[in-house]
Amino acid sequence: MVRIYGKDTVTVNGSKVIIRQVLFHGSKEVTRAVTDIVSSARAWIRMTLPELRSKPDPKVGALFGECFANPPDTAAAMNTVRSSLSTIGNFLGRELGIKVREDDDAHGYVKQYYGNRVHLVGGVIQYEDDGRTIARQGEVHIAKDTVLENPVLATITLIHEAGHKFVNFQDFDDQGYFKDDLSGYSAPGLTWQQALRNADSHAVFTYKVMESKFKTVMVHGRGLVT
Ligand SMILES: [Zn+2]
Repeated sequence: MVRIYGKDTVTVNGSKVIIRQVLFHGSKEVTRAVTDIVSSARAWIRMTLPELRSKPDPKVGALFGECFANPPDTAAAMNTVRSSLSTIGNFLGRELGIKVREDDDAHGYVKQYYGNRVHLVGGVIQYEDDGRTIARQGEVHIAKDTVLENPVLATITLIHEAGHKFVNFQDFDDQGYFKDDLSGYSAPGLTWQQALRNADSHAVFTYKVMESKFKTVMVHGRGLVT
């Protein structure tokens, strides 16, 4: 089934965000939530970058080891991550297109975190309902349910997807996806070399840095639903 998408354009911190939703299914609430999600993603990255320094806060150092599989040369790995996140942050700060997709085709869809990832970004090449590749359309996709019910997760997803789009990050199956509650990877075995190219490592790291600074992280009035 070919879907017809409508378009809303909002300005978030001075740059345009074009939000596309299925016509007749879209809502103002989605537009407001996406505005908060984009604003949050930019802020998380902006605040995480200065934490990546030669003598990091011990809490940040521990989170870095957890998310990036304890690289032997932490300083060099932090430089790499800082460079990647900086590029993602630059692109997220410019005009940006986001498509909010319906999930009524989600047979077997697991509602929470991991399921969202499999459904949206399980693999390097992803396909739309009509068979066109998402990458060719040049837009980041986030599920509508996630946007409305779990905007913190949607923010993590935005950074994750932006990593694929802007710096060619990959997924490494269960080894590269965090569990629903973000307590660790879904399966052991991710190497530090892979972690430096893994979308979820970077997205979850920024979330965890924010959580370590602020204790709770709220987006659009909600914390993370796990
Ligand atoms: Zn992915």
